[in-house]
Amino acid sequence: MIEPHGGRLVNRLVTGQKAAELEAGALALPVIQLSPFEVSDLEMLAIGAFSPLEGFMGRADYTRVINDKRLANGLPWTLPVTLALNKEKAESLKNASHVALADDTGTLLAILEIQDIFHYDREAESVAVFRTANSDHPGARYVASRGDWIISGPVEVFRRPNAEEFSKYRLGPADTRRIFAERGWNAVVGFQTRNPVHRAHEYIQKAALEIVDGLLLHPIGGETKSDDINLEVRLRCYEVLLENYYPRDRALLALNPASMRYAGPREAIFHALIRKNFGCTHFIVGRDHAGVGNYYGPYDSQKIFSEFGKDELGITPLFFEHTFYCRECSGMASQKTCGHDKQSRVMLSGTQVRNTLRDGGQLPPEFTRPEVAAVLHQAFSQQVQQEAAC
Ligand SMILES: [Zn+2]
Repeated sequence: MIEPHGGRLVNRLVTGQKAAELEAGALALPVIQLSPFEVSDLEMLAIGAFSPLEGFMGRADYTRVINDKRLANGLPWTLPVTLALNKEKAESLKNASHVALADDTGTLLAILEIQDIFHYDREAESVAVFRTANSDHPGARYVASRGDWIISGPVEVFRRPNAEEFSKYRLGPADTRRIFAERGWNAVVGFQTRNPVHRAHEYIQKAALEIVDGLLLHPIGGETKSDDINLEVRLRCYEVLLENYYPRDRALLALNPASMRYAGPREAIFHALIRKNFGCTHFIVGRDHAGVGNYYGPYDSQKIFSEFGKDELGITPLFFEHTFYCRECSGMASQKTCGHDKQSRVMLSGTQVRNTLRDGGQLPPEFTRPEVAAVLHQAFSQQVQQEAAC
């Protein structure tokens, strides 16, 4: 089994009597209310998906991640995992040693042992991470909306966030590693997605599956852009796809509770390291992975892997082109495997897919499996009806 990043799988989730004691102690502490994005980071920390991180980043890690794409100890790490505060809140905690963390409904989740509280430059962070501080970029917009102080330290999580939502798919790294071992999967490829799986993605997954033992289909379970398709609908799409088109013992569907940053190349590395913690040996990186708009070049998310030594990443990236159905080839292909012209290729953009569904049209079977199209069709017609009723 592949080692977690940094060599040890972190577990910051406390259960049983200890959890009850921590929660009782938390009632006496000052409270920070987390955004849903921060709650998903807390969940990632709790289950060890962000190993070797044991809490929200301190100054040394934060600064080196921004400047060098590494933690202070030199391990590759490309995105900040931070808890932000406004100035008033930061000042109010100056003399505190511990603080309770709550979700946006006020439910207490964890205790953070305060190591440091420091000021940071939100704009500089966005430019380093997203190459822009423009508010058109969803990641930069989120950073700009946060406070400009950071509080850092290890966390102990006594209540797993969102535990009841889609609990069947809420598998942590310890769970997926156990399942891989039980199934005898030595080599496992991880597939990141925040969209329904269309045939192009299915083709890439299956091409990868030809050379490994198993597939971890690992959709984003945290926050995504408001125009991305919601998690419940996406999960139904994955279920009907796996049921009808994949061998049962070769694919595992689980949630990656992380939120999307839309940080392109930096997020491609981040996504790969997370999947390494979940036990994957390989990771699929498509064109414009984790991209948005035109902020990154189409191959930047693949090129960034050459900035790191193979051994220090540990997980092997598998690079893919855009793929499509070609009528001349009578099958799925990419520009690496098909020399026919554009007219022979069935390709739809995300916007075209959404517009087709909103207008009640059918997605072509060359593009989307009919079972998946039916789920999407139903979800969109419900949405249109709801909007009409408002
Ligand atoms: Zn062709």
